[in-house]
Amino acid sequence: MRDTIGNNNSDLTEMNRSAVVKILQQREVCSRADISKQMGLTQASITKIVAALMEMGIVSEVGSIKGSGNRRSIGLKLNADQHQIIGVKFARHMFAVGVFDISGKIYTQTETEYPLEQDQRSVLSAMKEQIHDTLKNYKNVVAIGLAVPGPYLRAEGRIAVVTQMPAWHNINFIKEFKEEFNKPLFIEQDANAGAMAEWWFGDYARPLHTLAYFLVGEGVGSGIIDRGNLLLGAQGTASEIGHISVDARGPRCECGNYGCLELYCSAPMMLKMAEQRVPECFSKDHKQRSNACNAVFEAARGGNKKALELVREIAEYIGYGCVILINSYNPDIIVIGDSVSKGGDLLLPTIQEVVKQRTISELHDRVQIKISSLQVDPTLYGAAAIATDRVLQMPSAFLAVKE
Ligand SMILES: [Zn+2]
Repeated sequence: MRDTIGNNNSDLTEMNRSAVVKILQQREVCSRADISKQMGLTQASITKIVAALMEMGIVSEVGSIKGSGNRRSIGLKLNADQHQIIGVKFARHMFAVGVFDISGKIYTQTETEYPLEQDQRSVLSAMKEQIHDTLKNYKNVVAIGLAVPGPYLRAEGRIAVVTQMPAWHNINFIKEFKEEFNKPLFIEQDANAGAMAEWWFGDYARPLHTLAYFLVGEGVGSGIIDRGNLLLGAQGTASEIGHISVDARGPRCECGNYGCLELYCSAPMMLKMAEQRVPECFSKDHKQRSNACNAVFEAARGGNKKALELVREIAEYIGYGCVILINSYNPDIIVIGDSVSKGGDLLLPTIQEVVKQRTISELHDRVQIKISSLQVDPTLYGAAAIATDRVLQMPSAFLAVKE
């Protein structure tokens, strides 16, 4: 992402290469004629761009495919498996490290839980060790993506408010991680990362103009992708909807505001309410945090009235969040993800009802509201997607196979 507005010829060449690589990333196999049609460039230009990408080992030919008008043409594909990306999710209670290729295929993933009160240095060391171990096992890693809870101040490398973990406020993630590894490393806030994962790897009708990813987990936030670009704001903390008041006279939040959305539908809030109102739904198996939200949903699915009522309340607040997203960003699609979204079928009818009651019909008729269907945690996948996005923006710099 550049801040300048001019383009030199070399920038334009790289932008066109990037556009071709992105089309191949999305379509797996296609012909030069297909790419030429999609990009609005002449076939001669595409032939030249593809030749350069083949020379660099980024793209290769894969026999003949059926093109338009039943004509056979040579298929092209991205050499995705030659370039791996490490995705790292840092979250409250846990961190995860995964290896993906640039087409989004997952190779491996590990998850480590830690108690909230554990000192930061030991958590950071454990994360770094895990990444170093992964780098030893995978030799073709081209970049690392790290997703952290928001609001994350991109230029400073710090998280402005980490609710429940105030001590992490002073950790400079850029300093900690960029100097540690001899690889390009990109850091982004978790909801932005999730949005990028949905944009790159989500299974939705395309073209999409604006995608909103609504993270409802340990924290609450959103990430907006508009025509392929992440909406960042001045410091990178745009669309931080978890800290918008849904009750201006509500309780004080750690961010300074009152009645923030995060205080009503995050996983910790849901679990706190469940412990008071439906304690019978927790067993020993639910000690692990990742299972705790599911325990409440299971009880609701089993017909426990108090659990159903609680889940409906949570869904109402998620609905208010969707109303904020619709009025702020006019998305084609809102994708809800993270631990609270696991209640999918229990949540969606109430969310739809709230949205229908509280938004202009022309807007709510057009917006699709879905639960994330990604098979991998969207934040972890998103950490990889952020790095993939940056790598694909400059294919010659990151992907050229060096002899
Ligand atoms: Zn707040």
